[in-house]
Amino acid sequence: MGKIIGIDLGTTNSCVAVLEGQSVQIIPNSIGGRTTPSIVAFGDGESRLLGQIAKRQAITNAENTVYAVKRMMGRRFDDPEIQKIRTYLPYKVTSAPNGDARVSIRDTDYSPPEISAMLLQYLKIAAEEYLEEEVTDAIITVPAYFDDSQRQATKDAGRIAGLQVRRIINEPTAAALAYGLDKKEKERVAIFDMGGGTFDISILELNNGIFEVLSTCGDSFLGGEDFDRALMDWMLAAFKEDSGIDLGNDVLAMQRLKETAEKSKCELSMAEESHINIPFIASENNSPVHFDRTMTRDQFESLVSGLIERTTAFCEKALKDSNLTAADIGKVILVGGQTRMPAIQRHVERVFGMKPSLEANPDEVVAIGAALQGGVLQGELKDIVLLDVLPLSLGLETQGGLFTRIIEHNATIPLKKTMVFTTVADNQTIVDIHVLQGERELAEHNRSLAKFELVGIAPAPGGAPQIEVSFDMDANGILNVSAKDKLSGKEQAIKITPSTGLSKEEIDRMVEDSKRHYENDRMSRELKELKNRIKGRMASTVRSYSEFGRFLDSNGQEMVKNAIQKARDIDPEEDSISLLNDVLDQLETGAEKLTTAMFISPEGASRSGEGELKEADLQQLLKSALDDVKS
Ligand code: AMP
Repeated sequence: MGKIIGIDLGTTNSCVAVLEGQSVQIIPNSIGGRTTPSIVAFGDGESRLLGQIAKRQAITNAENTVYAVKRMMGRRFDDPEIQKIRTYLPYKVTSAPNGDARVSIRDTDYSPPEISAMLLQYLKIAAEEYLEEEVTDAIITVPAYFDDSQRQATKDAGRIAGLQVRRIINEPTAAALAYGLDKKEKERVAIFDMGGGTFDISILELNNGIFEVLSTCGDSFLGGEDFDRALMDWMLAAFKEDSGIDLGNDVLAMQRLKETAEKSKCELSMAEESHINIPFIASENNSPVHFDRTMTRDQFESLVSGLIERTTAFCEKALKDSNLTAADIGKVILVGGQTRMPAIQRHVERVFGMKPSLEANPDEVVAIGAALQGGVLQGELKDIVLLDVLPLSLGLETQGGLFTRIIEHNATIPLKKTMVFTTVADNQTIVDIHVLQGERELAEHNRSLAKFELVGIAPAPGGAPQIEVSFDMDANGILNVSAKDKLSGKEQAIKITPSTGLSKEEIDRMVEDSKRHYENDRMSRELKELKNRIKGRMASTVRSYSEFGRFLDSNGQEMVKNAIQKARDIDPEEDSISLLNDVLDQLETGAEKLTTAMFISPEGASRSGEGELKEADLQQLLKSALDDVKS
């Protein structure tokens, strides 16, 4: 079996790692970055750009550049949070026929898992290049507070990308694993995780290889993006005040504001003030208007104090749910890029009464933990047990639209629980099983996961039948529900495919699409590599020819010149692998001839004078070949 890679699929950035021997390596992306912006851009036709390259062109192609798609995973279009972000995202968010949120680019609709899959596929290819083997298996991390639909959507994304998702693990649990692997002492830690889109707080107990999550909670709509947005709003208002111009509807200007806001925000983590200057942001009476203001760290901190304060209640709840107080916590570990903000670090210190630990790299620690979990599944790491918890309660809709909890949140998973229900009416032969997740008392306020019917219940007076409903959650946090009428023995079971989400047919189609792209991506990589090898071979052959060509007979010289010429004439768009291989073969044959010629005696050399490449031709060939190599 190949290696299992660990993927931190972040809102803003993603990171991939793998266990090699006893240490974890971060896998660089195709341009050498240790993290990859979670951005997909659509060009003309079928062309797509990913990661850093997609980020670079975002300003000029804002409507077709999709970022922060993780915020839409497993969510419905009418979700108030989706309605909120949709007003400022530069790309279009619409409703799928089943009510899910989806992304619309030009005339094509994409589900959030499909977009995530594009990114995963890009990361998969980078991992294959790095490991020099096919990668089929992965561990993907998700925020602890992701509900079942969001986890399913993440699993779907992996599947579409051609990855077998061996485990979905929680980001804080992964971070704890990376932090605590070599710690032998019993220790309770809090993982304070704020990335680009989500905030999680988890309390764990680490005890000699056992990583037990005691509690977790958070907000899947609170992260760095909101801090950027707060700064953007301030910039919009400031610009209006200075120039009277409202940039709100100018997609290009908004994209520039967003990029600058994020940069300034990061700068303010290091410096006391940031000079925000965006030239030519608008024009008035044919003259350019620039944005030019200074934001101090104090000002920024008061702008976002509400966002930071929102984390307090979650931290208190996590402590309460684990029956601990801040004094019981040995260490607070920061995860996620947004925790680099000094005001957040001070806030954590206030809430937990201790300075947070800065020993883990907040950008990489989650991927490292995921790779370690890969090592556990492969048997390379032993004596490690992860005990995670259910983030939100699971239950059924019961009479009067009530939500009856079957499993309380923070129960340790994997788990199985059964509860007995009954009918309301006499001779009722069918019951609707409506599975929900959430903490509200009324079913309608919680997330609907699935609905199914149990039919064939033995006729009996209302209240008499005993219907046993079992919830079975696996280690990925993915749920199976079954219902059984004890009298008739009739049973109905379903693996929860949430009422939101993709159908099997949709996933199959996306898998096919993605395979096609994967083949294209692989093919273009193969073409690129082949062309690079030809360029390199051509340069060395030209150099050897200039020194030793005169030792070849005229046929040999003709052959080598031809090979060089053919290599030079390759159309940059050439896409025939067999033609390129042919050219490379000829260059290699020529190179072999030249190697032999090097050993030819001076008598032999004197025979070859007439077929010699003219100095001028040679220089020309050499120059153009070297130019080609440089390009
Ligand atoms: P992650 O999802 O962990 O990659 O976190 C990404 C978020 O962290 C983005 O919103 C970044 O803007 C934010 N971030 C990264 N570096 C810093 C920094 N030095 N100060 C404040 N926020 C940062």
